[in-house]
Amino acid sequence: MYLSDFDLQQLDEQTLKELPAEQKDALLVKLLWDLQEARERLKASSQTSSRPPSSDAPWQGGLSEAQRSEESESANAADQAPGNEELEAGERSAETSGEPKPSEGASTEPVENKPKKPGRRVGAPGHSRQLSLPISDTIWHRPETCVRCGQVLEPEAFIARTGLYVLDVESTAGDGLQGLQVRHDKHLYGEISCSCGHVNRTEPGRCPAEPMWEVQLSEWHLVGPMLLSLIVCLSQRMRLSRRRIQEFLHDWLGVWLSTATINQCIHEAGRAVEPIEEQLVEELQQASLAYVDETPWKEWGQLLWLWVITTPTVCLYFIGYRSQEILANVFDEGFTGWLMSDGYQVYRQFRHRLRCWAHLQRKAKGLKDSLNGEARAFGQATDALLNDLMKAIYQAREGPPRDLIAQFQDRLDAFARLCEQHRDSTHEKTRALAREFLNDWEAIWIVVAHPHLPLTNNEAERALRHWVIARRINQGTRTEQGSRVVALLASVIDTCRKRNILPWPYLAQVVAERRKGNPAPPLPAAG
Ligand SMILES: [Zn+2]
Repeated sequence: MYLSDFDLQQLDEQTLKELPAEQKDALLVKLLWDLQEARERLKASSQTSSRPPSSDAPWQGGLSEAQRSEESESANAADQAPGNEELEAGERSAETSGEPKPSEGASTEPVENKPKKPGRRVGAPGHSRQLSLPISDTIWHRPETCVRCGQVLEPEAFIARTGLYVLDVESTAGDGLQGLQVRHDKHLYGEISCSCGHVNRTEPGRCPAEPMWEVQLSEWHLVGPMLLSLIVCLSQRMRLSRRRIQEFLHDWLGVWLSTATINQCIHEAGRAVEPIEEQLVEELQQASLAYVDETPWKEWGQLLWLWVITTPTVCLYFIGYRSQEILANVFDEGFTGWLMSDGYQVYRQFRHRLRCWAHLQRKAKGLKDSLNGEARAFGQATDALLNDLMKAIYQAREGPPRDLIAQFQDRLDAFARLCEQHRDSTHEKTRALAREFLNDWEAIWIVVAHPHLPLTNNEAERALRHWVIARRINQGTRTEQGSRVVALLASVIDTCRKRNILPWPYLAQVVAERRKGNPAPPLPAAG
C-alpha cells in the first residue's frame, strides 16, 4: 500500500516532527517503500531495455503524426472513465446502455472510425437499445489503517466519494471459464478521517503514463478484467471484428459496448501484457532450438512483416521491417541454440542455422515436372537425394544418436559437384536452386550429422497460419500501436497455449494487476 498524492498533500515536515516515535517509524517505512518503488520505476523507464529506443524499434512503422493521433483518439475515445461519476450525480442505470448503437452498414474494418465526441455522455437520454442490468454487488473500498499514525480506522466513519460501475463476467463453475455470467458491480471509493486528523482516501488504481502508450491502463474502467479478456479472445483468437464483438456481447450477454470501447479494451490489454515480452525474450535466448519465419503484414497500406520466433515453450511475435535488426534484438550474441529458418538471407548470420527441407523439396519437385531436360534431371537427382536422406534420418531417430555423414559422404560430394555444374545453368530455376544449395550447404546438411534436429520449419509456419487468415479478414492494422498490440497479445496467447495454460484467466489477472499499478505477474512455466 503506497501513499497517494492526497496522502502526501496532508503530510509535511511539521507533521513528521510531531509524530510519536513509534508512529513515525511506521510512517518512515511506508515512505521508504514508496521512494524505492518510485526510483525503480524511474530507472525502468529510462533504461534502454534489450531492444533499441522507440525511434528505431523494429516494430516501428512509418506513420504520419496525423494518422497516429487519429488512431490514438479512437483507441482512447469514449469511456476514458466510463461508468464513473460523482455520487452526487445520482445512480445511473446499468452502464451497458451508455451509447446509442452506431450506424449500421459502415466499414467492416476492425478499427472503427472515431466517434464524434470522446468521453461518455453523462446523463445522456435513454435509448431504445438501452439495457439495464441490476447491480450484482456493492463493493466498498475502505481504507483500513491510517497512513500517518497507523491506527486501525473505524469502518463506520467511511464517507463514499466516488462510485464506479464495473461490468465483468465470471464463471459459475469455479475454476475455468464455464458457465459465464455477467456481473455489474458498484465500487465505492471514499475516505475515513482518522482521530489524528489525517484523511485517508481510497481511489481506483492507475498505471503511470508510459511514453509508448496513449491508451490508459487503470481501474477507472467500465469493463472489468475478465470481460476485457473475453473481448481479446473474440478479437485475437476468434478473429471477430469490433462490430461483430459488439453484436456477440449484446446478443449473448446483454452487454452493450461501443466499438470504440471495445477497441480501447484490446489496446489496453496489449499495453498490460507488454512487460511479459521481456520475459519471453529472455527465455527464448536460453533455448537450444528456435524456429523463425515471417509473413507480409500491412499497416495502413505500408508493407511490414509479421515475424514469429518459436520454441517448444515460447511463441514470440513482432511486426516490423524485414531486416536483420529484428533478429539481432531478440537473439543477442549469447544465443547458442539452433535456428531453423527458410532461405532468407538475414538468417545467414547465425552460426547454428538449420534450413527447412520442405522448401527445397518443393523446388526440386517443381524442377522434376519441368519441360526443360536439364532442369528435370537436376530436380530428379535432388529429390532422390533428399528422399533417401530423410528415410535414413527418420530411421536414425529410432535408435541412439548417431552421425549419418560418413554413410552419405560420397553422395553429398557427388551432389556438390552436380550443383557446381548447374551453378551457371541457363535455366533460371535450376540455376537458383543449385546456388541455394551451394550458399547454404552447411545449414542444409547439418541435420545429417545430427538426425535428431528438425527437418522442416513447420512449427513456425503453423504459428503464422492463424495470423495469415486474420490478415485477410482485417486487412492488417492501422497504426504502430495497433501492430504492437497484435504482436504482444499474440505472443502471450500463443505462449500460454504452448504451455497448456488457459490464456484468458491469466490475461485478466495481468490486466487487474497492471491497472492497480502493480507489475505484471510472470507467465507460469507450464500448466
Ligand atoms: Zn491517524
